[in-house]
Amino acid sequence: MNYHDPLTGLANRALFYDRAHKSLARAKRDQSSLAILLLNLRDLDKVINQAGRNGGDRFLRAIARNFLEDLRDTDTIARIGQDQFVVMLENISRDEDIRNIIDKLIESANAPVTISGQELRCQANVGVSTFPADGDTVDLLLRHADMAMCESRQQGGNTFNFYEIDTRYTAGNCLLLENDLQQAVKNGEFNLYFQPQIDLRSGKIGGVEALLRWQHPERGTISPDTFISLAEETGHIKELGAWVLTEACEKFHHWLRKDINLGRVAVNISPFQLHDKHFLESIESIVKNSCLAPEYLELEITESAAMQNAGETIAILENLNRLGFSISIDDFGTGYSSLAYLKNFPIQKLKIDRSFIQDVDRSAPDAAIAKSIIDLAHNLNLQVVAEGVEKPGQARWLRDRHCDLAQGDYYSKPLSEIDLFGFIRISASATKDGEIRLI
Ligand code: C2E
Ligand code: MG
Ligand code: MG
Repeated sequence: MNYHDPLTGLANRALFYDRAHKSLARAKRDQSSLAILLLNLRDLDKVINQAGRNGGDRFLRAIARNFLEDLRDTDTIARIGQDQFVVMLENISRDEDIRNIIDKLIESANAPVTISGQELRCQANVGVSTFPADGDTVDLLLRHADMAMCESRQQGGNTFNFYEIDTRYTAGNCLLLENDLQQAVKNGEFNLYFQPQIDLRSGKIGGVEALLRWQHPERGTISPDTFISLAEETGHIKELGAWVLTEACEKFHHWLRKDINLGRVAVNISPFQLHDKHFLESIESIVKNSCLAPEYLELEITESAAMQNAGETIAILENLNRLGFSISIDDFGTGYSSLAYLKNFPIQKLKIDRSFIQDVDRSAPDAAIAKSIIDLAHNLNLQVVAEGVEKPGQARWLRDRHCDLAQGDYYSKPLSEIDLFGFIRISASATKDGEIRLI
């Protein structure tokens, strides 16, 4: 019990450390090499959402059995976190041999597991460090494997990385970025950009989406896709999210006072913020302090976030609606929406994910999906926004199918406040009634 993970029967962290210390001592004595592989299962929470706790446990047991089959008796595998495994390979020095084992492990992590008739699957990320090249203590080897894994995590599913000295300096490195993130809000390195949403009936701006930008003093602009997940993992998202809300509300109120009414400002809300027990009080006080009337604020929640813990989400959204905020579901079509939940969600808008818009005027399946989402939204009395509109053909297609709003580089990229005003001025002077662009 003290040395094994009760769920999978694999070694636990304590047993792993014990064996790793012994193996490392042996490797030093024999001048042999060893490798430490840290493996993270991506999207395990989605599997648990789909299959429930028990289903999730069965899934993990099946994956653990697969892993054991990939390894030799002399290798050690341990489960050291909910979705994290560590493997130690002794007497292995060739990168190619290590790669072969990683390939097998990733394949095992990907293998579908059928639970109660549902086929479930995960992806994996792996980070590798080796002795003697990357460290001479177990802790250091683990830390370096973790850095390499962080890098893989940012490269997407089913990727792996070997630790290299410059892993520490590459753009995606989590550990260094994490320290920087702590300071960044205080140092004023964050900025909000605004992307106009065009009302397709009137051709005017119907709203703007606030998008966060990090101007890192050494690394330049870092994309939110890189740092939002890091901020979520490290808990910084609450502070950062509060900053975004404050800034968006203050700016919008300031514009209204200058007689510039852009309809609404949409702010992206991370599931970590939404499910924080102080979120309601916090947003209520932020909006009150900014003097912005709540109906000008729209909260964007991604479809996959909304479906996590859907029962609880509905209750939170109802409270947000009660406070006067409107809610829109972001990246719609990419998560696993349950239509039963959608019916019960107190929401006002759906945003069609840009992957369906990309070829909407050329691909019959994409057109069918986009059209169905527009109809679904309208039948549920919701507005619908198309994301990622880049070409006039897409814009025309959407307008002809009565999509309400469109957003994308075709109209304007996300802009700084100054550029946004420039955009408004130019487009207002281009057409007599302030229409942005005639499609
Ligand atoms: P999102 O909310 O779906 O935002 C739309 C993304 O699409 C933005 O990327 C935007 O710049 C990009 N985009 C807009 N028009 C086009 C187009 O025509 N073509 C293409 N290819 N892309 C277009 P961005 O700004 O990099 O943000 C990425 C994601 O990061 C956002 O996706 C959102 O999920 C997240 N994010 C951004 N700001 C915040 C924030 O303040 N808080 C939270 N929690 N998440 C944020
Ligand atoms: Mg969004
Ligand atoms: Mg989106």
